[in-house]
Amino acid sequence: MKKRPILLVASLLLSSCGHNEHNYNEHTVSSVATEKTTIQTTAEITTTTTELMIETTEILPETDYFAPGQTHGSASYIDGTTIIISFLGYDPTNEWDYNNEEDSETIHQTLSYLETATDWITEQVKSYGAEAKFIYNWEENPDLIYGARFYEEMESETTQTYFSQRAFIDTNIDSDALLEKYNADNIIYMFFFNTDFSNSANPFTMPNPYHNGILYDKEIINIFVKFDDVYVTPPATYAHEILHTFGAHDLYYENDAITAEYVAYCNETGSRDIMFTVDSGDMITNILSEIDAYYIGLTDNSDEVEKWGLAECEYKNNP
Ligand SMILES: [Zn+2]
Repeated sequence: MKKRPILLVASLLLSSCGHNEHNYNEHTVSSVATEKTTIQTTAEITTTTTELMIETTEILPETDYFAPGQTHGSASYIDGTTIIISFLGYDPTNEWDYNNEEDSETIHQTLSYLETATDWITEQVKSYGAEAKFIYNWEENPDLIYGARFYEEMESETTQTYFSQRAFIDTNIDSDALLEKYNADNIIYMFFFNTDFSNSANPFTMPNPYHNGILYDKEIINIFVKFDDVYVTPPATYAHEILHTFGAHDLYYENDAITAEYVAYCNETGSRDIMFTVDSGDMITNILSEIDAYYIGLTDNSDEVEKWGLAECEYKNNP
């Protein structure tokens, strides 16, 4: 397919999750899984290569502006059924080759990590009386995975890629039909890029539906499968990013919701909160804290949030 330059939309802000996502538990640095399992054949994965040429005005119509608090985005309450649409991302630097054994293993590993992450979340929220069901298995349901080709560099922690990804989704994915088919309440979009270790962009999520006047109504997660010389993006990061889509905040740096004092407290006490640090192995031993539970709408109040003067939950005044 002919390559054409894509019009870049303005870089708006650093995502709330991209920077400093280095807070890995150093004790369990993992290597690439050595499990050798065949994945589905190329033919079974729908590879959509629709070319994107999108003007800024087409991406951001007037109607996409909402007042703050009117929406929770495509992932609202975790108590319910959530479908995860996976995209194998292609850009000028990164490709997937199904015939390459290492790539095949990585693709299989992402599915395995999705299972570990979503099983862990489901288990954690049970104690709050919530039933979180995730439907993500593209081997069972081929309409849950697509190839997504972009003509701009997608290795980035900034939101400038968000609009291309959202446009790709709007053009190619009938989200409403998928929600109806799977009888689901929420939909999350996860893009996987086959980066090598030299990549320095960390996994990130666009979790806040409304930010700086722009509606980020589709909750999009970017996973760069390897980064920062040593890290294979582990299942704990998948879980961390998925929790963002339901409203959880990063706890490892000061931000709009979290004070510097609380970040310091987490450091001093060696917090195991999954929004503060993530295990880097194939297992998840982090915890879902009372604070996380509050932010994803599982509780109405949090003593810790009040004690530390942290922000209110997005569901508080907008159920
Ligand atoms: Zn984060």
